[in-house]
Amino acid sequence: MVRADRDTEAILRGEIFKHLEEMVRETGAVTRQQLWDFTVDGRTHRLVDRNRGIRNPRDMLATLSILSDPKSKYADEEIGDSLFAYAYREGSVEGDNKKLRAALEFDLPLILLRKIADGVFVPVVPVYVIADDKPNRRFMIALDDTLRSVSDPLNLLPLERQYAQRITKQRLHQPEFRGRVLRAYECQCAVCNLKHAKLLDAAHIIADGQPHGTPTVDNGLSLCKIHHAAYDEQFLGITPDYEVRINSDLLEERDGPMLLHGLQEMHGRSLFTPSRSKDKPSKDRLAERFREFQEAS
Ligand SMILES: [Zn+2]
Repeated sequence: MVRADRDTEAILRGEIFKHLEEMVRETGAVTRQQLWDFTVDGRTHRLVDRNRGIRNPRDMLATLSILSDPKSKYADEEIGDSLFAYAYREGSVEGDNKKLRAALEFDLPLILLRKIADGVFVPVVPVYVIADDKPNRRFMIALDDTLRSVSDPLNLLPLERQYAQRITKQRLHQPEFRGRVLRAYECQCAVCNLKHAKLLDAAHIIADGQPHGTPTVDNGLSLCKIHHAAYDEQFLGITPDYEVRINSDLLEERDGPMLLHGLQEMHGRSLFTPSRSKDKPSKDRLAERFREFQEAS
């Protein structure tokens, strides 16, 4: 009986995750209201609790979502930048934690909601509870399917740790960065103002891994796919005064409408920038990057 319930629930969760992922592709992030009004096939599923950081639907066997705030000093945190740890909820080891334990027992995936602003979240789906670390009062969470097979979630082998770090970056940090950048730019390309999030990337001004290459909004630009690629290939540059430049060789070429309208006509345009000054692209970083563009021209 429980097995059948579990399988039905696993299928329903799969449907919910698919719709949620699609929503995020369209906007980069979701609001509390969207999570509250979430509907699949005409049926509403509350993906977030009204007041608490964990959603345990009465009609489900296990926890459906957990909420995490990267800025919070509270105990939910990434351990060694690899596996994700989620602290027991306040109080006893029972209560809310019971349904998280059920997620482990029944092998049911759930949603991790990362807060990027008040009432705005980037969901990571599916994630899995893979260990109940009772002595430290926390659950270990695998951020993707492949991490479920680690030998011992509480003691990762060096290679597993490296792998887990890569997954954390891909599944947690990059989507968060994209969510923050797209939100700051109101889901439009900073160069051409295209407003389709599915065609937008969060580009780094200074590359990830370089000094100053931080995953912060002031080191980011919301760019459509073509302008992102053009920026990375030095076909397109951005001055520290927020002006778009096109490589001089490219300006002289004659070709079809994409070259003409998509690139050449962008030369001299003013960059669209976020309204909040702290979100605007850093002029120092732009200058550093613009020098590379000039050297390549
Ligand atoms: Zn564009």
